[in-house]
Amino acid sequence: MNREGISILIIYTGGTIGMKQNPETGALIPFNFNQIEIEVPELKKFHYNLETISFNPPVDSSDISPDFWIKLAITIKENYNKYDGFVILHGTDTMSFTASALSFMLQNLDKPVILTGSQLPIGMLRTDGKENLISAIEIAAASRNGQPLVPEVCIFFENRLFRGNRTTKHNAEHFNAFRSDNYPNLAEAGINIKYNFAFIHYPTNKRDLIIHTDLDNNICVLKLFPGITPNAVDSILNATGVKAIILETFGSGNAPSPSWFLDKIRDAVNRDVIIVNVTQCHAGSVDMEKYENGLILKKAGVISGYDITFEAAVAKLMLLLGKNLAPDTIKQEMAKSMSGEISK
Ligand code: ASP
Repeated sequence: MNREGISILIIYTGGTIGMKQNPETGALIPFNFNQIEIEVPELKKFHYNLETISFNPPVDSSDISPDFWIKLAITIKENYNKYDGFVILHGTDTMSFTASALSFMLQNLDKPVILTGSQLPIGMLRTDGKENLISAIEIAAASRNGQPLVPEVCIFFENRLFRGNRTTKHNAEHFNAFRSDNYPNLAEAGINIKYNFAFIHYPTNKRDLIIHTDLDNNICVLKLFPGITPNAVDSILNATGVKAIILETFGSGNAPSPSWFLDKIRDAVNRDVIIVNVTQCHAGSVDMEKYENGLILKKAGVISGYDITFEAAVAKLMLLLGKNLAPDTIKQEMAKSMSGEISK
C-alpha cells in the first residue's frame, strides 16, 4: 500500500488513554495530548500525515454530553475534505454512546471514523493504549483502489474492530472492554488486520457529508425489575418534559402484566410519549409477539427496539426528537435501520 499522501486527523477528547494520577488524590485525571506524543514516539514512524486537534479541556468520558457530540460532528465536518480518516481518542465509559450518536449524526459518511482509548493510561508500562492507537490509525488509513476499507463510525479496542452503534462497554477491567453481541466484528487484528468485508457498509453513491446537530435529550429510561413499584414507574413515565422512554424489559421484550402497570403505560402512550422496548439482555432481539407478556406491551402502544443496544437507542431517540417530527413518524423511523444499528 502506498502510504504517502494519506492524512489522518486525531481528535483527542480525553479518557484514560491520556490520564495521569492526580498527586493529591491518587485518582486519574485527563492530561493534554502532548503527553501521548511523548509516550508514543512510534507515531513519528508512520509515513502518513498525522495531525491532532485536542479538545480543551480533555474530559473523563463520564462528562460527555450531546453538546460534546455536536462539537465532534462539527469538527469532523470542518475537516472532512482535508483528511482521509479520523481517529477519536475517547474515554471508554461512554465511547459506545458517542460512536452511536456520530453514526446517526454523520449522514453520507464515506470515510473511517475510528474511536479508541484504553483501560490503562498510555504512560503505564502495561498500557493497552499504544496498540489501540497505532492500530486505529492503521485502520483509519487503510484503503483499496483509493477507497477506504472501513467507511463507518467504528470502535477499535484490543484486537477487534466493531460497528460503533452495535457496541457496549461490558468490562471495566479487561483489555477486551467492548462487545458487539448482535453484529459480527468488522475486523480482527493479529499479525495482519483481517477485514470482514461482507459486514462493512459501503456507500453506493458519493454524496456530501451532512451533519445533524439538533439533538433533544428529553428522554428517560425505565428499567424493569421484579417488584418495581407504581411510584417508581410513575416517576419516570410522568417526568417533566419527557418525550420518549426506553423501557428496558426482560428477555425478548417482556414486562409484568398487572393492570396498574399496563394502565400507566397506556396513559403515557396516549399522551404521545414514545415508549421503545429494549431488552435488558445483551444479545438477541425484542419480539413482542413471542410471549403474552410481550404482546400486552405491543397492544398498549409500545414500539419494538428490535436488537438495538441501549446506547444506540438513546442516541437515535435524541436525534429523531431533535428533528421535531410527529410521534408516529418517529415510531416509524425507530423501526428502520438508520446506520446499521438494527438487524432489519
Ligand atoms: N473514566 C474513563 C473515561 O471514560 C475510563 C476510560 O477511559 O477507560 O474517560
